[in-house]
Amino acid sequence: MKFPYHCKFCGTAGEVEYNEPGVLTQTQIVFWLDFVSCNPCAEYQRQRTDTLRAFYKAAGTWDLLKKTGNIDDVATARARKMFDQLIHKLCDIVETRWHLPARFESSLVETLLDHPGRVNEVTRFIFKNAGVNTPPKPQPQPL
Ligand SMILES: [Zn+2]
Repeated sequence: MKFPYHCKFCGTAGEVEYNEPGVLTQTQIVFWLDFVSCNPCAEYQRQRTDTLRAFYKAAGTWDLLKKTGNIDDVATARARKMFDQLIHKLCDIVETRWHLPARFESSLVETLLDHPGRVNEVTRFIFKNAGVNTPPKPQPQPL
């Protein structure tokens, strides 16, 4: 049985198929339709979440190394490379999904190296700089 839906993120209309009789009632299915997203939005959310988790993990590890004084040139170079890759990855994800220019700025790497606790600020800057905080949302179309 197919059910029409609007993506909860972008509002695009779609159709979802559900064929497991006896598991969900019609009312439950209609309730869950409010939480359905289109495939591009779902993929974007997954990549975004995975990358942000990697950011928090890297920043947390770097913060711990700094606090314990276990940093040398090799550790600093690795951290720099990791932050550099994560920022590039997040910019790529934003550009791919929203078709907005997310510019890489090397000052963000330096900020994370100096202040790993500012990871939220850095990741928010990437989204805000690309204009993702106010993405153009298409209006839901009547079914
Ligand atoms: Zn969507």
